[in-house]
Amino acid sequence: MYKLIKVGLLLIIAWPTFAQTAFNANGRFEQLESTLPTPNSYRTASGSPGKDYWQQRADYDIKVELDDINRKITGTETITYFNYSPDELPYLWIQLDQNLFEKNSASKTTATGEIKNGIPASAFKDLTNPKDFGYKITAVKDAKGNPLRHTINQTMMRIDLPTPVKSGGSVSFNIDWNYLITEYYGRSGYEFFAKDGNANYFIAHWFPRMAVYNDVYGWQHKQFMGQGEFTLNFGNYKVAITAPNDLVVGAGGELVNPNQVMTSTQLKRWEQAKTATRPVEIVTQAEAEAAEKGKPTGKKTWVFKADNVRDFAFTASRKFIWDALQVDVEGKKVWAMSYYSKEANPLWGKYSTMVVAHTLRSYSKRTIAYPYPVAISCHATLGGGMEYPMISFNGGRPEADGTYTENVKNGMIGVIIHEVGHNFFPMIINSDERQWSWMDEGLNTFCQYLAEQEWDRNFPARRGEPQNIVPYMRLDSKNQVPIMANSENIMDFGNNAYAKPATALNILRETVMGRELFDYAFKEYARRWAFKQPYPADFFRTLEDASGVDLDWFWRGWFYGTEPVNQSIETVEWFGVDNMDPVAKKATEKAKAEAKRQTISNIRNKTDIKSTVVEENPDLTDFYNTYDRFATSDAEKKKYQDYLGGLSDEERKLVSEGKNFYVVNFKNKGGLPMPVIVKLTYEDGTDEVLRFPAEVWRLNDVEAKKIIPTSKKVVKWALDPYFEIADIDTDDNSYPREPVQPTRVQLFKAQPRSYGGGQNPMQEAQNAKKAGAVTGSKN
Ligand SMILES: [Zn+2]
Repeated sequence: MYKLIKVGLLLIIAWPTFAQTAFNANGRFEQLESTLPTPNSYRTASGSPGKDYWQQRADYDIKVELDDINRKITGTETITYFNYSPDELPYLWIQLDQNLFEKNSASKTTATGEIKNGIPASAFKDLTNPKDFGYKITAVKDAKGNPLRHTINQTMMRIDLPTPVKSGGSVSFNIDWNYLITEYYGRSGYEFFAKDGNANYFIAHWFPRMAVYNDVYGWQHKQFMGQGEFTLNFGNYKVAITAPNDLVVGAGGELVNPNQVMTSTQLKRWEQAKTATRPVEIVTQAEAEAAEKGKPTGKKTWVFKADNVRDFAFTASRKFIWDALQVDVEGKKVWAMSYYSKEANPLWGKYSTMVVAHTLRSYSKRTIAYPYPVAISCHATLGGGMEYPMISFNGGRPEADGTYTENVKNGMIGVIIHEVGHNFFPMIINSDERQWSWMDEGLNTFCQYLAEQEWDRNFPARRGEPQNIVPYMRLDSKNQVPIMANSENIMDFGNNAYAKPATALNILRETVMGRELFDYAFKEYARRWAFKQPYPADFFRTLEDASGVDLDWFWRGWFYGTEPVNQSIETVEWFGVDNMDPVAKKATEKAKAEAKRQTISNIRNKTDIKSTVVEENPDLTDFYNTYDRFATSDAEKKKYQDYLGGLSDEERKLVSEGKNFYVVNFKNKGGLPMPVIVKLTYEDGTDEVLRFPAEVWRLNDVEAKKIIPTSKKVVKWALDPYFEIADIDTDDNSYPREPVQPTRVQLFKAQPRSYGGGQNPMQEAQNAKKAGAVTGSKN
């Protein structure tokens, strides 16, 4: 494979022929302008809000009672709706999310009775039993108390206004309602503990809320089906929550009346927590365990306020331990807090609030400084989590003996980072979740990945590393939808809406743009769209606008397409510069000729023919018996000197250095164009990594040839040495190819694992310790 080229440098550079067999190179690198919406004065071509950007606002004044006996919510609210749109609105749309659980809800009629995405069996039980879930709307009245005409369409309700609300005007109205709380279904509900007869409540999408009217959709009133989350307006909330007086209530807002609902001991601890470096228990575990056994003696009303939020959720239980800590976030004091029952300890007391504090700092650095006064993590049932402004419900529960697997610990830390992180996406950068799941889940999972690495070195992040998305990218692209798909249409939700966009952003940051350009542009997106409602084009445009990097090919490949990345090194051709030295050349020819004489006959004849005729008769020799046909003649030496004399200094240097030229043929087998990163290992054991931008594919998206000059000989070529591009087949990434490894077959059946959800060495060690104490052994 080693070829010599004669000097004439131009000849070398022109040597490889580049095939012109581009399939779709122009399509892959074409600008997105025909795909994205036309920019206007609301949303500019640079991706920022335009000079005429507007959004609606809804303020809420709510009084609600939690009935712990009947597991029921009863509420009354005044909504004040501000119409900042340029349009007159004859009617308003209200979201009635609890109607998801109604007998004839669309969510139940979709996939042949199958409940979509993440609704656990417990909720299914609630859904199928005859209980009368869903909203009972008992009154819809105007500010003067006159009834307003309203029509309920599944999870949406239209209120017809007697006179349209004018552009720049506002309207106030009241709604009274009640509903039975479902078992916790992953977003809200109660968890019942049979052992002590108490329930933990996680109350969300519990009040009739304004739908969004905006410049993109008009009214965004796509039904709530369970998977596509929420599209919401900002506004100010005042919420008075009445509950049995032995319940601890926490909410996504500032507690307005601590003196009325907290004991003097609790208030004292609250003061201590302001300067503590570890969480201070406002309600201790001993107090919570005592409360579990008690009964209420009356009612208490907890009053909260929350400004400029898009929603409001709360939690309540007599089982709650409550801990708190004030954390400095970019010069502002924020309450990091956790609510959890004893079942969550020892894990939660140690980690939850510390993780909340870390998340606020980490995300603030990458987006905007956390603007709210409080951030809460509540312990809900076993897995997963759910986010609301300032408050989230998270899983991760130890065994009854207090031990836990590594998966449970890291899963709990990961989910708290994720759900608290949702404060930024979508609670502050208020994307339309009902339509685009990736804009909150993907961006949030990306920031989660970064925060996890800052929490603990080598944290086993599930999503973010390109290698981890490979199994998903290997799926037949016909069985996938692009990231740019409506939430309800997404297949493989976790990979599509969380992992793939998070990985794509990590690749942008590490491989395509570099950390500096990416971090600036990502922060700019957050800054531009904080407390506003961005859509995908605003994100795509801002990242390009602020970084100066053309990423249209990247959005096409990763966000609009389903093709995978699969690069290969097909061939490597090796060229050296011929220095034309006749002496060296003849020596090479001589060695070659001698090698060619080593035929099987000649080898055998050496011993078989004892002597030849000429050997026996030296007088039969002549000139040619001693002639060296590989000797250099004077004429040849003269010609060489003349040749050297005709070279420029630069050419002579190149000739004497003995440079190597490699023509490497890369293939794009997967379709998705990506940068080519190749590691060269030299014969002396050193190595070097070369990076070619994705634009190497812009004229030919199938094949790319690169001429790589080196001083040292390359013995090994390896594509994507740092696992950056999510290549779905790495067998063809090395040259020469790696030798085939045998598939190992087990002779004995593997022992079945005794633990669900991973090994629990903590439990093993604890049990061993106990056994040791019994038998009296010392260790
Ligand atoms: Zn999420």
